[in-house]
Amino acid sequence: MPLVPMKPMLRQAQAAKYAIAAFNMIDYNSARAIVDGATELNAPIIVQVSVKTIKLWGHQSIAGWVKSLAGETHIPVALHLDHCKDLAVIQGCIDAGWTSVMYDGSAFPYEENLARTREAYDLARNAGVGLEAEIGAIGGTEDDKFVAEDEAILAKVDECVSFCEALPDLAVFAPAIGTAHGEYKGEPKIAYDRLEKIVELTGMPIALHGGTGLTEAQFHRCICSGCAKVNISTMHKKRFIDGFIDLRGRDPRQKEPIPFIQAQYEAMKEDVRDMVETFGGTGRAEEAAAAA
Ligand SMILES: [Zn+2]
Repeated sequence: MPLVPMKPMLRQAQAAKYAIAAFNMIDYNSARAIVDGATELNAPIIVQVSVKTIKLWGHQSIAGWVKSLAGETHIPVALHLDHCKDLAVIQGCIDAGWTSVMYDGSAFPYEENLARTREAYDLARNAGVGLEAEIGAIGGTEDDKFVAEDEAILAKVDECVSFCEALPDLAVFAPAIGTAHGEYKGEPKIAYDRLEKIVELTGMPIALHGGTGLTEAQFHRCICSGCAKVNISTMHKKRFIDGFIDLRGRDPRQKEPIPFIQAQYEAMKEDVRDMVETFGGTGRAEEAAAAA
C-alpha cells in the first residue's frame, strides 16, 4: 500500500496499549529488513531516517526505496525523518513524500524551541505531513549532539502541557524522560511518574527515544504509560555491521558479496522481529491500517 501518516496509527496504538517500532534505516538492505520483518509479523512499522543518512543517499533515493517496499506489502508503513534542526532538509522530505518529520529544537530554551518548532509545524501541516517535536534533553549522542546521561534534562510537565496546547496537531511528542541515545553506561532511570503525568495532561502519544538497551519490563511499562512509538537505532546499526563480520568468521573464504548482504539482512530482520514482538505490534497491521 502507499506510505501512511503515523499520527492516526500512533493514536490507535496508544489506545490499544502497544507501540509501533521505528527503526533508523541505513540503506536499501536495512529498509528491506525493517519492512520485511514487520510484514512477517503482520505489524505496522515506521521507517525513519537520520539527517546524515539523507545527506549520504539523497531524499529521492530513500523515498523511492521505501515507497517501493511499502507498495509490495499489506502492512502500513510510515516514512519519518528523525531528529532534524534544518528546515531545508524537512522541506526536502516533504517534497519527496515523507509522511512525517521531526523538528528537534530541544537544545534551545523553551520559548525559542516553541517558536522554531512552530515554523516546522506550519510547514508540515500545510503539506499534510505529521510532526514530532521534543522537549528537554535526551541523553547520549544523536548525530553531532552529545548530552551526558547525568546532565540530561527531564522535560518539565507544565512546559509539555503549554507546548502541546500551542501545537495541538503534533503527530507524536518526545519529552525527555530519562532515556538516552546510544549505549547506556549505567542503569537507565526512567521517570515513569512524569511520563504518566505528561500523557494524562496532554493526551499525546509519546515517542520513546533511546530504546536500545532497555529491558522488556522497562519497554512494557513505558508502553502501558503511553509511549506509542519506540525508536531503535543503535542496535540496528550494530546488526548491520555484525551481520557482515559474523559471516566472515563463519566462512572466511566467501568472496561473493550477495551472501554478506543476505547475512546482514537476516541479522537486522531478526532484531526487527524481536522488537516488534516486544512492543506488542504483532498482528496489529489491519487495525493500524484502518486507523490510518
Ligand atoms: Zn532520538
